[in-house]
Amino acid sequence: MRPRPRYRPQERPPYREFPHRVLVAGGGFAGYSAAMELCRLTRGRDDVGVMVLSRENYFTFWPMLPGVISNDVDARNLAQPLRRALIRAGASFRRAQLEGVDPERGVVRADGVEIPYDHLVLALGGEPAYFGIPGVEEHCISLRGIADAEKIRNRVIERYEEATLARGEVPDSRLSFVVIGGGATGVETVAALHELVHGALAEDYPNLHPRRVRLTLVDRNPEILKELDPALRRVARRRLERLNIRILNGATAREVLKDRVVLEDGREIPSENVIWTAGARASRKLEELPFPHHDRRGLEVDAGMRVRGFANVWGVGDCAANVDAEGNPVPPNAQAAVQEGRAVARNVLAAIDGGRPEPFRYRPLGQLVELGSRFAVNEVLGVRFSGLLASLFWRLTYLYKLESPQNRARVAADWLLDLFTEPAVTEIRR
Ligand SMILES: Cc1cc2nc3c(=O)[nH]c(=O)nc-3n(C[C@H](O)[C@H](O)[C@H](O)COP(=O)(O)OP(=O)(O)OC[C@H]3O[C@@H](n4cnc5c(N)ncnc54)[C@H](O)[C@@H]3O)c2cc1C
Repeated sequence: MRPRPRYRPQERPPYREFPHRVLVAGGGFAGYSAAMELCRLTRGRDDVGVMVLSRENYFTFWPMLPGVISNDVDARNLAQPLRRALIRAGASFRRAQLEGVDPERGVVRADGVEIPYDHLVLALGGEPAYFGIPGVEEHCISLRGIADAEKIRNRVIERYEEATLARGEVPDSRLSFVVIGGGATGVETVAALHELVHGALAEDYPNLHPRRVRLTLVDRNPEILKELDPALRRVARRRLERLNIRILNGATAREVLKDRVVLEDGREIPSENVIWTAGARASRKLEELPFPHHDRRGLEVDAGMRVRGFANVWGVGDCAANVDAEGNPVPPNAQAAVQEGRAVARNVLAAIDGGRPEPFRYRPLGQLVELGSRFAVNEVLGVRFSGLLASLFWRLTYLYKLESPQNRARVAADWLLDLFTEPAVTEIRR
């Protein structure tokens, strides 16, 4: 039996008392990796204090978010607890919203309190970009967090309930779901919707044939998954078409209205359920901070991830415009964010110890895209594979990458259970 958790008084001095205080703003893939690596590298040293400041006390495991839509994973298992992991590693944690930075005085303001730093690592992540398209912000659901994935799943359930109660014909737009954006997130989302409709909900609503629900993927590029190898793109497309998902390529949304999407060429898709995954940009919070940045790509940083013009401010993850050794932009994804986080930890420490920061070298390991729970298209270190085995690989890889052992065990249990049962879906209305 496990020992009961018990109170242990803090052994390390408070963060403010360390000679070198490293403040990490943002506890996502990049910030968490930076803090954990710093703690690992300074174990046994008593001169470096690390604090993470983040607006939630968990970090979202984004790659599994579509699984919440399909009812494949429980939402709470994608919220990885930050506080305990960081405290155990020797860092401090504050759940607070960063409001401003005063680089002259070396302080940040968060929830009205000033926190000093000697080095500041900005890891505030990104957010959806809407490109000024009318109606997108107003009528679309964007995947900005765990709550949005639940919102999408609940929207499907709501529509089913309405259709069940309706007397007479239900308008097509009610049971039509449109996902805008044919990148990995859009493709995984539309496949997850299919899984929900044809899996968990099919048995619960015998009066509504799953084929009555229309699923459409809209993408302005000539092909979906443009970041993947062309052969894998074709495999993915065939798979989605076999699932009866309509794919419109070369289709740009001009406007989203309450009950339809209007495309540039004048075509209209009736839908009251539109999901936006077509663009991402750096956190808008940067606009309020005194550091140089591009609107979409984020903080201007040098090769060692130092913010231009500031010797003790660093930028990592989706909020920074990092480039690889060849000068190409590093893609905004989790593996890059983790690599940047670890690399910035080494560079901050080098700066503290009077050394020189190393240029960041991005090592892309591959791309994994899951299309429903039993099919994936993967490209790993140049090897391409798809199908059930690829799906198993997807699952084992992301299971391994979940940081929290409890979350890992629970997700594995959920998946195992799914092999033998079809868990029912519930909607908790808030
Ligand atoms: C739906 C979805 C699916 C994805 N799937 C994949 C995938 O399969 N594979 C992959 O490689 N990548 C995937 N990505 C991309 C990947 O998740 C991001 O590139 C990665 O999370 C970037 O890490 P980050 O640390 O920069 O940002 P995040 O992980 O978003 O972390 C940012 C952190 O900053 C905090 N924060 C923000 N503003 C403030 C503030 N003002 N004050 C305090 N804290 C703040 C946030 O709370 C958060 O903890 C996906 C993204 C999305 C949206």
